[in-house]
Amino acid sequence: MARLKTARLSDLIALLNQLCPADLAEDWDNVGLQVGDPQAEITGVLVCLDAEEAAVEEALRCGAQLIISHHPLIFRALKRLSPSDMTGRVVFRAIQNQIAVVSAHTNLDRAADGLNDWLAGRLGLRDNRPLEAAETGHFYKLVVYVPSGHESEVMDAVFAAGAGHVGAYDRCSFRTPGTGSFRGQEGSRPFIGQSGAFEEVQEVRLETIVPRARLDKVVAGMLKAHPYEEVAYDLLPLANPRKGVGLGRVGFLETTCSLESFAEKVKTALDVQALRVVGDLVRQVKKIAVCGGTGMSTYASALRSGADCLVTGDVKYHEAQRARADGVALIDAGHFATERLMVSELSQRLKKLFRERQFAIDIYEMKTEQDPFVTFT
Ligand SMILES: [Zn+2]
Repeated sequence: MARLKTARLSDLIALLNQLCPADLAEDWDNVGLQVGDPQAEITGVLVCLDAEEAAVEEALRCGAQLIISHHPLIFRALKRLSPSDMTGRVVFRAIQNQIAVVSAHTNLDRAADGLNDWLAGRLGLRDNRPLEAAETGHFYKLVVYVPSGHESEVMDAVFAAGAGHVGAYDRCSFRTPGTGSFRGQEGSRPFIGQSGAFEEVQEVRLETIVPRARLDKVVAGMLKAHPYEEVAYDLLPLANPRKGVGLGRVGFLETTCSLESFAEKVKTALDVQALRVVGDLVRQVKKIAVCGGTGMSTYASALRSGADCLVTGDVKYHEAQRARADGVALIDAGHFATERLMVSELSQRLKKLFRERQFAIDIYEMKTEQDPFVTFT
């Protein structure tokens, strides 16, 4: 059996970033490291919805040095750290016990195979796509002109720095041969030809795709590997969206059913005692939009998509009124129930990654979390 490796907090943050890249988060959000030393050794991880005091106690009980929560522990700017308020108490307890906290919030909501895919999956939806595709501007095309015979070195360098990934493929590029020309000014030291002479050389136009977050590293790697003193290259912003990424999902039930029987299904799938429903219970539904948590911000997109029903949480009175007027059914299953499923789903994916990386880490699911709302009948 292969020897298991020791993982540091920084390794865990990198793994989480692979599942739900931090740059997918909304600008107002605060995802990633909340409390902790990136060098700390991690042998146990507790996954929960909210990093509350109970989560710190649970982490202590099971011997986890890291809590991964959905809701960020630190959300608003803190003016002071004192155990006299809710956030301060958790931060205090965490630091006192050398427990780190990392959060994956709107980046997990928007990720492909993220929270909203899991929610759609639980409700039996098929052919799901994001309700609101992530904004474009994430990808750049890098075009660089390389003298023939040197393209492999440059390609290796840019791929190693993170260029060339398209879906499940890596090292993606395109090459076309051509003729480059230049004349070096006085003082130049051309790699090919003479200073002051007009030169024409066989070059390769090399194209590849680069995510915005890797741009600096890729360009630095390319410049280092390129033999020319002055490298001719273009960086072109692309309008391509990220596949499967964005807020909410819209998909189809296997068979058309009444809003009433769909609501029953939601109750069972999300394990809730009651739902708030807007719409005629006998109406038929098939195309369903979902957005976990406070999801009415996606209502306009759900309406545009032609969804019969939107499943979300935290629906307000006037929002319900508007949906009724628009003829869109709403199911408010609550913030907690529409997001709580991230605990088991994220845990499963992390477990798989730990195995693949041969990290000696145990994963624990927070079992005792409860919706602050109780159903009173
Ligand atoms: Zn939430």
